Amino acid sequence: MYKIAVAGTGYVGLVAGVCFAEVGHQVTCVDIDEKKVELMRSGVSPIYETGLEELMANNYSAGRIEYTTDFKSAYKDADAIFIGVGTPEQPDGSANLSYIATVARQIAESVEKDCLVVVKSTVPVGTNDKVEQIIQDFLVKDVKVEVASNPEFLAQGSAVHDTLHAERIIIGTESKWAEELLTKIYEPFHLPIVSVNRRSAEMIKYASNDFLALKISYMNDIANLCELVGADIQDVAMGMSFDERIGSKFLNAGIGFGGSCFPKDTKALEYIAKQNGYELKTVKAAIDVNKEQKTMLYKKASKRLITFNGLKVAVLGLTFKPGTDDLREAASLENVPLLLEQGADIYAYDPVGAENFAKVYPEGKNGRGSITYVANIEHALEGANVCFVFTEWGEVKAITPETYKKLMRTPLVYDGRNIYGVEDMQEAGVEYHSIGRKPAT
Ligand code: NAD
Repeated sequence: MYKIAVAGTGYVGLVAGVCFAEVGHQVTCVDIDEKKVELMRSGVSPIYETGLEELMANNYSAGRIEYTTDFKSAYKDADAIFIGVGTPEQPDGSANLSYIATVARQIAESVEKDCLVVVKSTVPVGTNDKVEQIIQDFLVKDVKVEVASNPEFLAQGSAVHDTLHAERIIIGTESKWAEELLTKIYEPFHLPIVSVNRRSAEMIKYASNDFLALKISYMNDIANLCELVGADIQDVAMGMSFDERIGSKFLNAGIGFGGSCFPKDTKALEYIAKQNGYELKTVKAAIDVNKEQKTMLYKKASKRLITFNGLKVAVLGLTFKPGTDDLREAASLENVPLLLEQGADIYAYDPVGAENFAKVYPEGKNGRGSITYVANIEHALEGANVCFVFTEWGEVKAITPETYKKLMRTPLVYDGRNIYGVEDMQEAGVEYHSIGRKPAT
């Protein structure tokens, strides 16, 4: 059992902290956000993740996890401090490392015994060296502090499962001491550990994320071509998936990738390459395709309807994917402002994302248009002139073509996630547009 502190209680930090507690370590989760800490102390998770609250409750009552804003007491005698704070994108595409630097200083001012600092956040190659330097610069006590890289691969929506059953743990270290300590911390998970140097570990994270982003953008590119030449992207993907070299995952075409990782990690790697005098053409192509893809359906619908002024527009799904309340880089955030600018009256449904969305677009009049958040899908569809599907939530997938036909004023559906059968929609009398498939006739 080790004494572990985790800096940052977002998707990465909180899930890591809870899972460390679950396997028996003594964990203190630190955040600067007092409201978040209060919530967690009362047993409520500030983020939506399947199974998370249950594990929080079990480990809290077992006395294995606590939450605090008092970083000094959390860091001073920790064996290891994991950093899981954000590294958001800056306007030039580079990663903002200021949160990481702040934590590094706070650690240096607090530690009173030898400890390992582990960077879990996604950071550009060489950042671990900088973190170590900052800690040395600001260290108060005469103790040994080393830095290791341990990038995180969880996917939002299945974060707890992904952590407890990860396909591999990547650890990047520069000494035997750090490698052995981190290996021992992960021992109770019984998962494969890949041990490399720090810079390789940092690169593995970006290279993996950007490879997946490329795969999605490639399929979206092919989907757009399918529409032009009369092929069906779902049949094409199905045919490709049997090839083990390609695999069946990440082959779904749609309105582009969102979330907190792929958009920023593609831009960050492109930036890193540029800084080093290299043009990363493949990743740049993925970024460009994705940008176009996000508003693909809006553009199609605009051509068909000319204006959205005064139309009732049903929007189904606001989050960047199902199973999360995260809106970062979601397609909805690109399309809703365009619709509002045009004077649309939007009726939006999302089982968990509506509250966060309303912080950006409050209910009621918004510019020329308006937005109303509804708790059931039927309410959004009733009398609607057009419907956009942005997130493939289970309850959205479950709507029958007949429901669209019955409830909407004009049964006109733009599906950004290809969740319904083209023929089924056609048979029910719904004009149905999706991505890379036969257009409605
Ligand atoms: P997040 O924005 O959800 O959470 C970051 C948390 O850090 C916030 O609660 C914030 O209040 C807190 N924080 C900021 N400064 C702090 C400080 N000095 N001390 C303590 N807490 C502080 O971020 P996230 O989505 O969990 O991502 C964190 C990192 O992990 C990023 O680098 C991201 O790229 C990477 N990552 C994210 C995912 C994902 O699916 N979200 C997956 C893998 C890797």
